Amino acid sequence: MAKSQRIIFVDSPEEVNWDIEVEILVVGAGGCGLVAALAAAQRGAAVLIVEKEKEAGGNTSLSQAMVPAAGTRMQQAAGTKDSVRLMTADILKKNKNGSDPELTARIAAESAPLIEWLKDSMGIQLELVSDFLYPGHSVHRIHANRSRKGKNLVNNLLDAVSRFENIDIAYNAPAVRLVARKSDSAVLGAEIQIEGTGTNLARAGKVILALNGFGANRDMLKEHIPEMSSAYYFGHEGNTGEGILWGKDLGAQLQCMGAYQSHGSVAHPHGTLLTWAVISLGGYQVNLLGRRFVNEFHGYSEHALDVLAQKEGVAVEIFDERIYRQVRDYEDIQQCDRMGAIKKFDSIAALARGFNLPVEALQETHRQYQLAAAGDQTDRFGRKEFGRPLEPPLYGVKVTGALFHTQGGLKVDANARVLDQNNRPIPNLYAGGGTAAGFSGKSGPSGYLSANGLMAALILGKIAGEQAAAAVQTH
Ligand SMILES: Cc1cc2nc3c(=O)[nH]c(=O)nc-3n(C[C@H](O)[C@H](O)[C@H](O)COP(=O)(O)OP(=O)(O)OC[C@H]3O[C@@H](n4cnc5c(N)ncnc54)[C@H](O)[C@@H]3O)c2cc1C
Repeated sequence: MAKSQRIIFVDSPEEVNWDIEVEILVVGAGGCGLVAALAAAQRGAAVLIVEKEKEAGGNTSLSQAMVPAAGTRMQQAAGTKDSVRLMTADILKKNKNGSDPELTARIAAESAPLIEWLKDSMGIQLELVSDFLYPGHSVHRIHANRSRKGKNLVNNLLDAVSRFENIDIAYNAPAVRLVARKSDSAVLGAEIQIEGTGTNLARAGKVILALNGFGANRDMLKEHIPEMSSAYYFGHEGNTGEGILWGKDLGAQLQCMGAYQSHGSVAHPHGTLLTWAVISLGGYQVNLLGRRFVNEFHGYSEHALDVLAQKEGVAVEIFDERIYRQVRDYEDIQQCDRMGAIKKFDSIAALARGFNLPVEALQETHRQYQLAAAGDQTDRFGRKEFGRPLEPPLYGVKVTGALFHTQGGLKVDANARVLDQNNRPIPNLYAGGGTAAGFSGKSGPSGYLSANGLMAALILGKIAGEQAAAAVQTH
């Protein structure tokens, strides 16, 4: 038995003293892992989920539970015309053809079945978000729970998990190494540090890597995404990238390692998210000179770099009562409110004084913005979507740009199997969510289409669970 830092290579499984034996081992209890476990268990497989932290959720808990899907019953009921082809085209347009077109189409094709399976088989209702259109989506296709809280989605998934006797979850149980056969890199199981029982070797028929990407690993960020390596990281601290490194050591292809999702609207210094709906509904941003600096509507992910390029890496986001009323029930807005991040003013001059911005410069910026929003002049930054001109009282929030999650990882095929350098599946190894290469372009923040994250997590998770279960049953 040869132990490397990340892989234990063995000649055969018989030479290992296994502590645990299971059909399917899922590493990570975020959206991808929980869905993978449910899909596999529904097909009768015995599943063990190991989670590094003391509770499930990861980034999925921090999300707004927004999941894109084309052709759902909810869309049909709302009269929204959508198709797999249109969703595929939107993803490929945003990522500039930076994801495999066949895999992208497969994910789009599995999107409506995912939403309906969640409802029909797991009792988890997601509704169509139709109050605003996220940039880059041609039609309303984002589905979310009513609270828009990832935490509730995770709780609902955990409720579903608790109804399956053939799923076990171990918390405070990080997988620290994979066990693989020397001759062909076939994955045989993993070494897991389970709190209270120490090191355990778990033999598994199939292993599903659902432990997200490397947003919390500064060294990997420096190597692959240097422009974000010192930015505020808004994601889950458990996402330290080891799943990708295990795959790499087994000869997997890594793809899109420079791609990521960031956000240009995180309240500063509070560290709470200011929903992008504020911009979609007509808000705008100025820098500390009281000047706008870009078309804010071009996309919240790429907007982070624009904000970080401003003086002190911050901006002030400005909106009005109409917008505030539309978003005030959102959990993240309530959090911003509780933290005192949202400030209210009678006039633009008062807002300027409140944030120490040059009054005259901001008044002029506001005047120009209002003219463009009223359709009386063309916006000098090319923005076309405004909602309506803003009316006092006005609201302001100081914001900065932050990294949310990485989008590069292990190349997988249409069955979520991890592929080696010759595009052959590494035996017994599956990946989804942030551990797999995403659909957000080869590098940078601009290829991220809203909700690409949960799309990859939940859809690849479901595919991985189904395929792994089918494969263990065949054997
Ligand atoms: C604030 C925020 C809002 C977002 N909103 C949305 C949204 O609305 N829609 C959308 O599509 N995307 C959104 N995203 C992105 C989305 O949350 C992620 O893409 C998605 O949740 C990834 O799911 P996952 O299952 O791959 O990873 P996670 O949900 O992060 O789960 C990974 C789990 O693996 C565990 N783990 C890590 N290492 C180990 C190990 N060695 N052993 C065992 N367990 C391990 C982690 O602790 C974690 O619990 C958002 C992200 C953030 C930060």
